[in-house]
Amino acid sequence: MKQNDYLMLKNLVKDFHDGRGNTVRAVDDISLSIAKGDFVTLLGPSGCGKTTTLRMVAGFEVQSTGDIILDGRKINTIPAFDRNMPMVFQSYALFPHLTIFENIAYGLKIRKMPKEVIKNDVALAAQMVNLVGLEDRYPGELSGGQQQRVALARALVLKPEIILFDEPLSNLDAKLRIQTRTEIKRVQQLLGITALYVTHDQSEALSISDTIVIMNNGKIVQSGSPEEIYNHPAGPFVSDFIGNANFFDGVVTEIDNRFISVSLLGSEVQVPLPTAGQSFSKGDEVVLAIKPEAVEVRPGKGAFNGKIEVSSFLGATTEYKIEYADGFMTAITPNTQGEIHNYRYGQEIAFSFKKEFFRIYKR
Ligand code: ATP
Repeated sequence: MKQNDYLMLKNLVKDFHDGRGNTVRAVDDISLSIAKGDFVTLLGPSGCGKTTTLRMVAGFEVQSTGDIILDGRKINTIPAFDRNMPMVFQSYALFPHLTIFENIAYGLKIRKMPKEVIKNDVALAAQMVNLVGLEDRYPGELSGGQQQRVALARALVLKPEIILFDEPLSNLDAKLRIQTRTEIKRVQQLLGITALYVTHDQSEALSISDTIVIMNNGKIVQSGSPEEIYNHPAGPFVSDFIGNANFFDGVVTEIDNRFISVSLLGSEVQVPLPTAGQSFSKGDEVVLAIKPEAVEVRPGKGAFNGKIEVSSFLGATTEYKIEYADGFMTAITPNTQGEIHNYRYGQEIAFSFKKEFFRIYKR
């Protein structure tokens, strides 16, 4: 059975003082339970406190208040070196003057492991991340993706229970990013290692995580599986951050036990009643959020009309920026074989919504 509270953060706070009497609260009372073997991602915009949280878990920063509990034991004051939670950094942080073998072996050498054990474990780690044959090279002689795999091998060789990742793919180009994240996920699953991963990239978080923890202004705003976060964002911030949603102002005109009718741009739409959380009444001013892929576009006139401002053909989909009465919105339409709609700049179109995908929030 999975141990659900393997790593626990309890009411963690981090204040930074700048020496001129100002205090920045980087992390503001967060609590989180991480199950053994889970891949948990802290996701949020720049400055939301995700790196500071990760660095407190690693022991690189000391929390102002709160506790970090690993396997039932408080580790608040244990130095980073003794936590056995290696971190994989964005910058790889390899030793340039050491070979790949020596880089991977470094942590074992410091722990004074016997030579034979080191040789054996480094070979296993190199094999795990497909680096065999490159052991005698120096980091400068490897591609960025290969260097990041060395960094991963250097962490794996310590047989850690937890690996920490600080935006490890940010320096790689788009294709390598996808390859390397697949590699990280494969090895993490194979070895059943617990992973705590920091990124500001939504698609990276959605693809790699068992659990996504969304942070904003030092606080956790939602945590859940990628599907939960994507399909049931807890508020406008998550809707926008994870789904690049379009937002519309509306007024509630009618409520029954399944739908809320909202007047929107001079028309009526029926949106699903939220299952939990907020309750609504007639006359409420609301915000409706809808993802670009739930906006349908067709030629001619309809209840909602607009004009194509930008059309970007992306292969499997086409993304449109549409100008309408209240501003701009985005639609993403699928290009199924033989059915490609390429509306041009300036073309008048009608748009509609797959209304089951509307999310409603109080203004
Ligand atoms: P990014 O993606 O840009 O790294 P982040 O979400 O990881 O952002 P943090 O690096 O954790 O955010 O920073 C959170 C807040 O704490 C920011 O306002 C930042 O300026 C501040 N901060 C971080 N480190 C320090 C420090 N050493 N001294 C003072 N303020 C700091």
